[in-house]
Amino acid sequence: MLIICADCACSDGALHEPFCTQEICPFCGTPLVSCDCMSKVLALSPEEQHAVDAYIDDEMEPLKSINERWAAALDKKGRVPFIAQEHRAEAL
Ligand SMILES: [Zn+2]
Ligand SMILES: [Zn+2]
Repeated sequence: MLIICADCACSDGALHEPFCTQEICPFCGTPLVSCDCMSKVLALSPEEQHAVDAYIDDEMEPLKSINERWAAALDKKGRVPFIAQEHRAEAL
């Protein structure tokens, strides 16, 4: 049986699509969407943090460049691929 990511539909062992809700943060090991590593890793200024909290439009600055910096930081650290085996273990 082929197991794919429930959100971005990537296959077992492949990297998720950027900002997939199932992606695990390589910095803390919890889901990337709910962890707060971005603020710490990028050392966001209060203004930038405010923009992230409000999250109005990521096609506009400063969110656009914050997201680019975060994506670069994740790539540098090494993004976590989708491992179907681990998801099965968690579901038990
Ligand atoms: Zn995914
Ligand atoms: Zn994290």
